[in-house]
Amino acid sequence: MKLITIAIDGHSSCGKSTMAKDLAKEIGYIYIDTGAMYRAVTLFALQNGLISEAGIDEDGLRQHLPEVMITFRLNEETGRPDTYLNGICVEREIRSMEVSNYVSPIATLGFVREAMVDLQRLMGAAKGVIMDGRDIGTVVFPDAELKVFVTASVDVRAQRRYDELTAKGEACNFDEIRANVMERDRIDSTRAISPLRQAEDAIVLDNSHMTIPEQKAWLLEQYHRVADE
Ligand code: C5P
Repeated sequence: MKLITIAIDGHSSCGKSTMAKDLAKEIGYIYIDTGAMYRAVTLFALQNGLISEAGIDEDGLRQHLPEVMITFRLNEETGRPDTYLNGICVEREIRSMEVSNYVSPIATLGFVREAMVDLQRLMGAAKGVIMDGRDIGTVVFPDAELKVFVTASVDVRAQRRYDELTAKGEACNFDEIRANVMERDRIDSTRAISPLRQAEDAIVLDNSHMTIPEQKAWLLEQYHRVADE
């Protein structure tokens, strides 16, 4: 069986990371959530006063970006990797509405993308990796052996995000989440650098009407189709 690179891109909140994490666990691959990396940079900017009513302090962020250390560590309880910012677990904080509201503007900044893409290429250099995001199959690993582009209807995606936040005990509002999901898609798809788009050689998966076990089985089948060749 070949060791391959698996790139999973797609719209916001369509369950990319759930299916990617499950497959990684099943086949013993490393899973990298690149959205978590952009979220960690956003949290850093918020914590350090680099985002205000006036907007993003781009010069300040550029200057302080070298201080941002992002790592992933396996959480023994969940069996999934948690995101660490400068040695502190920020898995919960990076999923907040505040971070969600600023992450797409932060992710349009060229110097942020350059730094994250360099790190992602390093993390995936040895193959045997599943990476999910927006530009993995188009920019980060254009030679990935398996590329999947995931989508689902806006209402289904907003409902999933709502259920996820509610399950964590966070107060949230469905309409606010729906608007955030749509706005992130708009910014991600129209930005000048590495916009969200389907790679020509990606397989499209619309999972609007699929259960999590069905998605997992589908992805495992795609993996075997490529890796068993
Ligand atoms: O995947 P997730 O929804 O957590 O990603 C948060 C945001 O990070 C996205 O809305 C997008 O703006 C940005 N992102 C990106 N490129 C990636 C992954 C995420 O621009 N590879």
